[in-house]
Amino acid sequence: MLGKSPMKIPTNRIASEQGLGEADLNNIEVIGDVPVVDDFKWPPNITGSLDRIPPSIARGLMKLFWSRPAIDKKVCTNCKTCVKSCPVDALIENTPIPEFEYGECINCLCCMEMCPEKAVYEEKSRLSRLISRFA
Ligand code: SF4
Ligand code: SF4
Repeated sequence: MLGKSPMKIPTNRIASEQGLGEADLNNIEVIGDVPVVDDFKWPPNITGSLDRIPPSIARGLMKLFWSRPAIDKKVCTNCKTCVKSCPVDALIENTPIPEFEYGECINCLCCMEMCPEKAVYEEKSRLSRLISRFA
């Protein structure tokens, strides 16, 4: 639908390698016409570029390329909406603001969407900021 081979999408490819679902279009019966979305805007292709380098080096690079939610202390009212919205309990109540357990966070950014004060923002690593500038 979006004009890319499903196996070029890292999450699809890895799920397929782990036997989760069917990724081979030859084994999927399509009923009716497949709609084509030709104006879909893809995010910067950092993971696609990493496909071309050895996995051990790619893993090392990915440690330097990250983004995660963070809370602006000056804006947060500690209403706890984000804590209640997190699907994996990666935010815990604290004072003066909730605290992230980044090891649990799946980066879904529900906390960012639900915050009534817009106090949650995306914090990016230096490499991530650098790449975004050129993407
Ligand atoms: S939802 Fe926003 S304002 Fe409320 S506690 Fe979370 S970050 Fe703070
Ligand atoms: S990004 Fe998602 S998983 Fe991470 S703390 Fe926010 S709501 Fe929870």
